[in-house]
Amino acid sequence: MRILVISDIHGNIEALEASLAAADAAKYDRVFNLGDVVGYGASPNEVVNKSRELGGIFVRGNHDKAASGITNAEDFNHIAALAAYWTRDNLTPENLMWVRNLPQGPIKSDGVENVQCVHGSPLDEDEYIIVVRDSYEPLMETTAALTFFGHTHIQGGFAVDGEEWMTLRPIYESDDKAEQFVFPMKKSAKYLINPGSVGQPRDGDWRAACAIFDTDAHSITFLRTPYDVASAQKKIYDAGLPDRLATRLTDGR
Ligand code: ZN
Repeated sequence: MRILVISDIHGNIEALEASLAAADAAKYDRVFNLGDVVGYGASPNEVVNKSRELGGIFVRGNHDKAASGITNAEDFNHIAALAAYWTRDNLTPENLMWVRNLPQGPIKSDGVENVQCVHGSPLDEDEYIIVVRDSYEPLMETTAALTFFGHTHIQGGFAVDGEEWMTLRPIYESDDKAEQFVFPMKKSAKYLINPGSVGQPRDGDWRAACAIFDTDAHSITFLRTPYDVASAQKKIYDAGLPDRLATRLTDGR
């Protein structure tokens, strides 16, 4: 089975559509969506509609919680708070309810043994796993052999194999073409894998990020896909959302 893993779409329909087209070409059977479906971007309804249509496994992100009123958006920085309130005002009532009802991770995958999905960390849905030190506790404490996580908007991950700790970062040849990086996994290791952010990458690469997990080959294919970033930016300006939310899409930071 091939599973498309997407995370941190953040209301960016252009980035989502481009990623789905690349994933269609690479083939997949089902979808894991790691949350932050909305927040920041100007197309929350389009992204929620598409996510609902794709189905699969979902976990909620911190922006899903803030936009739907589960947590207080005032706890966010100013720009993120403005975006959360804008999203709340612009989601249809039905889509707002769908976002509010997204489940808290970890969610175990049915049919795929020993795999779980979280937004931040298996120990705390709001925690950031940025450097390998951050992965020690979650990798030691969790029993799942493979945990998909998002939240940091950084594609790659961490692994432990016996005494050896590893940081995984895909390597690409260009910064403007559609590319894939295949990472073969070892059966003996335990992994935390981040597909990267579809709609607001922060790893220095502006291209939309996602990943495909092949359960038979036991490999992860990381994807980077160029998309119509100018269109996504124009919608952010037109919506009156903070300019920084548009400019950071081309910065990839
Ligand atoms: Zn996010």
